[in-house]
Order: sequence, then C-alpha cells, then structure tokens
Amino acid sequence: KGELMKGKRGIVTGVANHQSIAWGIASQLAAQGAEIALLHLPGMERRVQPLADSIGVKVLAPVDVTDDASMDAAFATVKQAFGQIDFFVHAIAFANKDELKGSFVENTTREGFLRALNISAFSFVDCARRAAEMMPEAGGSIITLTYMGSERAIPNYNTMGVAKAALEAATRYAARDLGPKGIRVNAVSPGAMRTLSLAGISGGRGMLAKGRSLSAMKADTSMEGVAGCALWLLSDLGKSTTGELIHVDAGFHIMGFTEDDGAEG
Ligand code: NAD
Repeated sequence: KGELMKGKRGIVTGVANHQSIAWGIASQLAAQGAEIALLHLPGMERRVQPLADSIGVKVLAPVDVTDDASMDAAFATVKQAFGQIDFFVHAIAFANKDELKGSFVENTTREGFLRALNISAFSFVDCARRAAEMMPEAGGSIITLTYMGSERAIPNYNTMGVAKAALEAATRYAARDLGPKGIRVNAVSPGAMRTLSLAGISGGRGMLAKGRSLSAMKADTSMEGVAGCALWLLSDLGKSTTGELIHVDAGFHIMGFTEDDGAEG
C-alpha cells in the first residue's frame, strides 16, 4: 500500500477478467489510493463486479466504444459520480479471429480491417477527447496499451499490428494537442501476456514462449512490471513524460541476433 495516487480519480477501461492487463493496473492504482471508475464491455457485469468490489471501485458502468450513445452514457455516469478525473486508462483492442492468422495480405478484409481500427485505435481518440474534457486545470494523464507488432511484422498479429501503429501515432498527436493543458498521453507496450486477447491470436502461446526466450532477460513480462509502469505514468512521478512509447517486455524489442543464430560463434 502507498499514497502515490491519493486524491486522484480516474477511469480504467478494458477489465474483462482477473487476467486483464487493465485489472493489474486498476489493482495497483487502488492500492496507491486512487478512486476508480471501471468501464467494461456490456454483458461482463457478473465477471467484473466481484473484482470491482474487491478493490473498492466507486463506479461501474458498461461501455461499447463502437456506439456513441453508449460512450455518452458511460462518461456521463462517471461525470456525475466524480465531476472531474485525473487519469484515464485505455486497454481496449479487438480484431476478428480470422484476421489474426496466416497471411496478412490474403486474410485482411475491408470489414475486418475497419473493425479492428475502429475498436483498437479510433476508440482511443474518442476516449482521449472525452477524458480531457473532464480533467481539471492542473491537467491529467492518459495511457493506452499497445504491442510491438506495430513496429515489426510479427506472425499472425497482422491487422492488429496496423491498428497498434495507428494507436501509437494517435498517442503522439493527442500528446501534442493536450500538452498545453497539462495533460500527458503515453503508450505502454508490454511483451506477450496470457490474457483473453492473446488467446484470440493464432499461435498466441508461441508468442509467450518466444517473448521469453528471445528477451534480453529471458523472462516473461510480469503484470507487476506493466502495472508499475502505468502507475509511474499516471502518477506525478511521470510529470515530464508525454508522447512516449514505453516497452515493458523484459527487453524483447532491443534484441538483434540471438546465440542460436550463431551470432556469438
Ligand atoms: P483483455 O481481453 O483482458 O482486454 C481487452 C479488453 O477490451 C476487454 O476487457 C474487452 O472487453 C475490451 N473490449 C473489446 N471490445 C470492446 C468494445 N467494443 N468496447 C469496450 N471494450 C471493449 O486482454 P488484454 O491483453 O488485457 O488487453 C488489454 C490491452 O493490452 C489491449 O489493447 C491489448 O492489445 C494490449 N496488449 C496485450 C498484450 C498481451 O500479450 N496480452 C500485449 C501488449 C498489449
């Protein structure tokens, strides 16, 4: 327990179950004194309610980021309860299963591409605008979750990689717009982690194994590490950092050749 987030209120999206990255972040924020509103996908109440109760969440409301009326209602609920917010966590992504396997060029459809970009990238822009409107004069902090499949071509990640590239660019543009208002906007890029979303990617387990074996630390990405980075960015500790993409992946993204490639021989 600590007091890094004492007196701060904010919204966390993207909790589907206890494995969700958003859940790891929400728990750490609560342990540091934050007051949290959780916005979850409609229909997830039974899963999310007990988790919310266990960390004293004040506000729980459904949101479907593809539906303007649902967005209006969810943000209105938080506004009524909190008035202002100091932080916002965007941890939302989706692509059809068919788009997350095999050949990117062959399997990407217009409908699937637009759906992935809508839910995984546009939703961030929409959330950032709505969150910023609720932030005080002193400013605030917004983060999103991304993955290195935006920067490099990862097997099966396909359309989601393109969506994450859009999301990361959106982070920089939002940081530029909102900077003068004291609002910081950053993206956290974890290595592969065992969640519902990973299960939707063909060969997701392989991504976990590769993430470990090819990382500098030869280790899995830990929830504590990802949540710790989020906490730093969302608290005043992150004061001068904005528009950044921060990898929390045990050093996966820095590696070039591995010993197995004969690079050390
Ligand atoms: P998760 O499945 O637990 O979280 C994804 C969330 O998105 C779910 O809570 C789901 O309800 C929500 N969502 C989907 N469509 C929505 C909609 N239309 N409206 C509102 N909410 C919607 O999986 P996760 O791995 O915790 O994913 C969270 C974020 O972290 C995602 O952006 C994901 O891409 C990113 N990420 C995950 C990994 C990983 O390996 N798991 C690695 C890097 C980044």
